[in-house]
Parts: sequence; C-alpha cells; structure tokens
Amino acid sequence: MSKITVDIETGTTERKLRAISKHTEALADELNHIDEFTCSECGSDHVCKTTAKSDHNNYTITYECNDCGNGWYGEEGLYND
Ligand SMILES: [Zn+2]
Repeated sequence: MSKITVDIETGTTERKLRAISKHTEALADELNHIDEFTCSECGSDHVCKTTAKSDHNNYTITYECNDCGNGWYGEEGLYND
C-alpha cells in the first residue's frame, strides 16, 4: 500500500481555489452560451432564441439562424411559478 501526503496551506489555497472556481464557472457559462448560439448548419452566431409558452405551464425554446434560416428546438419544461 502506498500513502500520498499533501500539505496544504489552507488559508491562501482556499482563496486560490475559490478564484479558480469563480472563473471556471464564468468560462463554462460563456462556452455554453457559444454552443447555444451557434448554428449547426452554417456556423453563424446570429441566432435568435425564442421562449414560447405552449400550454398551461409548459414552455418550448426554439432557435433560428438569421443567416441561413435553420431552426431547431431547445429545451422544453415547466415554468416554476
Ligand atoms: Zn445558419
């Protein structure tokens, strides 16, 4: 059996980890946004997002590319009112 020992200076390490976490979260959000608003047909980022209320508490998200007219569906779900 082998043992691994890690010495952590808790004060600054925690602050550093929080800084990394904060920025990776923002980066992940931005990367998701890029994926969400990129047309799979022509690669354009001129994409229009529409949230349509279908019935009662359901909604459907649709996307349409302003350059080539490609349209696709996003998530569907329930409003949580
Ligand atoms: Zn397109």
